Amino acid sequence: MFFGASGDLAYKQIFPALQGLVNQGLEIPIIGVARADWTRDQLVARARASIEERGRFDPRAFERLASLLRYVDGDYRDPSTFEQLRQTLGGAKRPLHYLAIPPSMFAPVVRHLASSSSATNAGVVVEKPFGRDLKSAYELNANLREVFPERSIFRIDHYLGKESVQNLLYFRFANSFLEPLWNRNFVARVQITMAESFGVDGRGKFYEETGAIRDVIQNHMLQVVACLAMEPPAGSDDAVREAKTTVLQAIQPLTPNDVVRGQYVGYRNEPGVSKASRTETFAAVRLSIDSWRWAGVPFFIRAGKCLPVTCTEVLVELQPPPRSVFEEPRELLAGTNYLRFRLGTDVATAIGVRSKVAGEPMAGHDVELVANRADADVMSPYERLLGDAAKGDQSLFANEDAVMAEWRVVNNLLDDSTPLYEYRPGTWGPTEADRMISPGRWHTPVGCR
Ligand code: NDP
Repeated sequence: MFFGASGDLAYKQIFPALQGLVNQGLEIPIIGVARADWTRDQLVARARASIEERGRFDPRAFERLASLLRYVDGDYRDPSTFEQLRQTLGGAKRPLHYLAIPPSMFAPVVRHLASSSSATNAGVVVEKPFGRDLKSAYELNANLREVFPERSIFRIDHYLGKESVQNLLYFRFANSFLEPLWNRNFVARVQITMAESFGVDGRGKFYEETGAIRDVIQNHMLQVVACLAMEPPAGSDDAVREAKTTVLQAIQPLTPNDVVRGQYVGYRNEPGVSKASRTETFAAVRLSIDSWRWAGVPFFIRAGKCLPVTCTEVLVELQPPPRSVFEEPRELLAGTNYLRFRLGTDVATAIGVRSKVAGEPMAGHDVELVANRADADVMSPYERLLGDAAKGDQSLFANEDAVMAEWRVVNNLLDDSTPLYEYRPGTWGPTEADRMISPGRWHTPVGCR
């Protein structure tokens, strides 16, 4: 059952994911709930339009999906909507309720699910954002936990379902050569850039309430940090989640000195945005992880809109050799040994090395050993995550402690009191962000698709 069937997320992501799941064999009734005054046929038409525009329309799979779709119309604040739902659910033994709805509706929907006996033996999938800050996240969690046990709550962070993020996790723990290097002795610093070349894309009202820190740093970026920094788990699934949670809890809460916030020129003219807005469309932060492995290694993140490219990339910079044996100045060797992970629709894993140039001198140049894959969209994150939730597999969902740890990291920065610098669209954000990382430089992703 999914709430928000007439919404933007359903159109962009959920219907294509459902067709993919049906193609893999999903055979359960799927009930869309909205207040659009639709018939079932209109829901089917909406699903078709969505998949034709946003997915890969497959006539046979779509026909099966269409036969599974049901529709319930009504307001989420109205108990009679849930009576209808209860009837449509019939004898379903383990229903899964997916809340693709505005966060303000999470608590009322959960309450109505409970009072209509639709929550018994059920699971609930909750979209992001999970709260607006630490306090509201606690409250939301308490609301959910009154009705659902933790094992039945699936908190979505679609980054965890991305093929490229899965690749990062796999690469770390499937290659023994990494472990001896993967610590403060060899890693100089870690950088993550999440760049979007577009602005708020008509979602100004939503973004105005959110900003870059809440939208992507508190969740997606910190989950990537967790994949990079976690200790080797003692097993898969739960052990992976626990190892991630432990490292998230070791990240020191950010202070105003650890952040540079920016806003692109023109943001205040976007529909739905205040002329005096102090919402950041760019943020750069410096994280410290209080652990034996990472003491003294800065983790830098920058994320922003209207930057020169759309690309997410991780750079793990290794220490340069302790001295230059050949004729080259040591400064030339700084920053030349690294690991690079592209987390986009193309999945790239690269190792940066120095290699000798041909000829007499013992001099070298920078070379990358690259493994590229362009098949990251074989399975969309939503297809992977909704499929896992339907099976009751929580491995790729954030648990309550992880979400609270993420909020604790950013909570001091959420009152908009830190300075806000303007930047021109098409640049890499305010120059203050460059100063933050000095004497090093931000890594610029190239060749982004
Ligand atoms: P929309 O506003 O587009 O859709 C919300 C849906 O909920 C609509 O179908 C809306 O119906 C319905 N709704 C809202 N209030 C009620 C109500 N009282 N009774 C019945 N229906 C109601 O939001 P999105 O689809 O963009 O987002 C949904 C969730 O997904 C949010 O939590 C968002 O943060 C999250 N998300 C969205 C992303 C995106 O790209 N859109 C990306 C990541 C997360 P109506 O149209 O009639 O108001």
